[in-house]
Amino acid sequence: MARGENVCLARQTMTIPAKTALMVGHPGHELRVFQWLEMHRPLVCCLTDGSGSLGLPRVDSARRLLGKSGASPGAIFCRISDKQVYRFILDGNSEFFVGLVDELARIWIAAEIDVVAGDAAEGFNTAHDLCRFMIDAAVARVQFLCGRRLTNYQFLLEGRPDACPAHLRESAICLHLDEQALARKMAAASDYAELKPEVELAIQHFGTEAFALECLYPSDTGSMLALWEREAPGYERFGRLRVKEGRYKEAICYREHILPIVDAIQRAVEA
Ligand SMILES: [Zn+2]
Repeated sequence: MARGENVCLARQTMTIPAKTALMVGHPGHELRVFQWLEMHRPLVCCLTDGSGSLGLPRVDSARRLLGKSGASPGAIFCRISDKQVYRFILDGNSEFFVGLVDELARIWIAAEIDVVAGDAAEGFNTAHDLCRFMIDAAVARVQFLCGRRLTNYQFLLEGRPDACPAHLRESAICLHLDEQALARKMAAASDYAELKPEVELAIQHFGTEAFALECLYPSDTGSMLALWEREAPGYERFGRLRVKEGRYKEAICYREHILPIVDAIQRAVEA
């Protein structure tokens, strides 16, 4: 409330460093913004334990990486397994996500956070997209609960690490890593044993140099929601294909499964 507003104002006028928070869908995403982590030492929340379909959590690696960067884990950290998330989505368990939004907002209020960053919604992975929807809703909830406006950044996980839409470039944070910073980032990535195949694939695909630029830009969820009014997200097309091939029992579909959760989350912001 008024207290929060005053703290926020004090930081702006007295140039006290902003308090930052990161919220990611899976442990390991933080590697994409490793330099930003080192610079700001955010409070880090994470939806799943990264256990994937094989059920192998990567919580220890995630904690080790945070320790190296100086960031710290928040109260929501690797809260559930990936299998549980998919089950909740398919079962339409929007209460779980609504509850998490409120919890996230209260964590940020208690820690007097000014700036948040996290996954972008890219239509590639439902946990990434839900994470973004929850961040946006939690930012709105903070404003509803105490009047504070948090700055809300996103970064890509599937797209190029150095990509930034032209219309958002002016308000983006673009960090150019020097040789040492890039070496630290690459060392942290190779220390993340569970992500070895993904890291190798990403370097092969984009080249190491692409990771020498970190772009965090204002949340752009609206443009993706508008896009998915016209065409199905990639995960839905992929899931349907897998069902056809007999490799998946059911596919997560945007209109049937995701949109009702998004609506519930948005409705609950001012509850
Ligand atoms: Zn992920």
